[in-house]
Amino acid sequence: MARPTVSIRWKMTLLYTGLLAVLLVAFGLFLFFAVERLLIGSLNETLTQRFAQAQAAPQLRAELAAPPPGAAPWHLPTLERLAGAGLFLQIRDSDGHVIATSANLGATQLPPPSGTLSQPNQADTTQIRLPVGGLLPEAATTDIAVVRFQVRSGPLLDAHGHVVGVLQVAQSLLTVDEVQDRLIDVLVEGMAVAVALALAAGVWLAGRLLHPITRITDTARRIGASGDLSQRITPTTRPPQDEVGLLAATFDTMLERLERAFAAQQQFVADASHELKTPVTAILGHANLLRRRGKTNPELVDEAPTAIIEQAERMRRLTLDLLTLATPGDHPERVAEVVSIEQVITDVAKALVPLARERAVQLTLPGAIDTVTRVLGDRDQLKQLVVNLVDNALRYTPAGGQVQVTAWQESHGLDQAVVLEVRDTGVGIGADDLPHIFERFYRVDKARSRAAGGSGLGLAIVQDVAYRHGGTVMVESQVGQGSVFRVLLPAVAGTVDGMVTSQS
Ligand code: ADP
Repeated sequence: MARPTVSIRWKMTLLYTGLLAVLLVAFGLFLFFAVERLLIGSLNETLTQRFAQAQAAPQLRAELAAPPPGAAPWHLPTLERLAGAGLFLQIRDSDGHVIATSANLGATQLPPPSGTLSQPNQADTTQIRLPVGGLLPEAATTDIAVVRFQVRSGPLLDAHGHVVGVLQVAQSLLTVDEVQDRLIDVLVEGMAVAVALALAAGVWLAGRLLHPITRITDTARRIGASGDLSQRITPTTRPPQDEVGLLAATFDTMLERLERAFAAQQQFVADASHELKTPVTAILGHANLLRRRGKTNPELVDEAPTAIIEQAERMRRLTLDLLTLATPGDHPERVAEVVSIEQVITDVAKALVPLARERAVQLTLPGAIDTVTRVLGDRDQLKQLVVNLVDNALRYTPAGGQVQVTAWQESHGLDQAVVLEVRDTGVGIGADDLPHIFERFYRVDKARSRAAGGSGLGLAIVQDVAYRHGGTVMVESQVGQGSVFRVLLPAVAGTVDGMVTSQS
């Protein structure tokens, strides 16, 4: 299996780094314009102040009334006093001609205001761009060639309050441009470093977080190649409690169950083969004996076929049991019939009474079928469950003993359960063996069980059928005293053996 072309690790890292870059750019833009607004705001204060000073200066009107000799634009002393580094003044007459400028403007003229300023308290502030050459000596140290200016224009009034011209004051925004210029450099460099760091940290972190996934893939691949189910992803018993850690732990649990199921399956196949080997060997032995000595030994002609039939019968039972266990039992259509457990017991008893007689064991069955012991299930499977339990009880109870089969319905919380009880006064089962008797091929006394015709699968089938019907099996036993097997199945009310009846 090939590795993915764009790994989730890179996808995650690129996504987050991209997001970080977008956020940084947004923040940078915000900072850029916030700084501009702040700086221009503080420069505007100086500009407005200087503008008001010039507008109110009485000398200025006197100087304008008696201008120095020479052609306009004149350099008036009041304008020179109010001008300064980065601050320029200019006066236009009512026709728009420039009549006076501060000397620092040189040959440059400030552009006329955008509108007519005929009212005394009108003012207009605009932003313009001018080449720095000659205007701003301090700009020589920078690589800035064109600078923004904030120009405030307003009417110039004579002593009687009449508009005689337009006063214009310009403030250079070189500082703002410089600060923004440097800010761009700092932001770009900072963002580049931040994005590079985020990328490196992201790849490392994502790699660390996704490490268990890589391990899952590698482990799954190794298992696929070798078939070795003993491999695990997390070597520690306490994997990290995050989503990926839980996935790894879940995968390990699944592997553990698979390994156990696989081992149980292998054991089952080995046990089944072993069980079949014994009767097959016996049949072959008897058949060979019959062929070699049959003609000379007439007794063999009687004995060998009987033994062969006995062993073949054992094989037949074993294969039937194996088939039952191998049949998938969770098909709803197979368990959709209403079955009376007491009816099943009565049906089964017919087949088991001869065995009870043969074993000289007293078999007690329920009387009339009048109690409510109905379950939803598969009649054949339930018959087999009863047969296996009663058959065991009869086989493991010595002559003179008793086997009692009963069924009733009882409440379990809000639910109703049908209880099937098989009680015997037989050999009992030791405490050590009790937890194992439902395992496939488990026998307390192998020789005795085989001799009694047991396959070792009877109780495994009982438990299997009970589980398929949503029930459970319980056992109580004491060696030498006897055993009680109880099967609890969910009860169903309303019908008996498929017929609708009224419930008593
Ligand atoms: P088997 O075919 O050997 O009877 P089972 O699965 O039916 O296999 O039973 C497993 C073992 O449990 C038996 O070998 C037997 O030792 C023990 N056992 C089952 N039922 C009884 C019982 N009623 N009394 C005593 N022992 C029992």
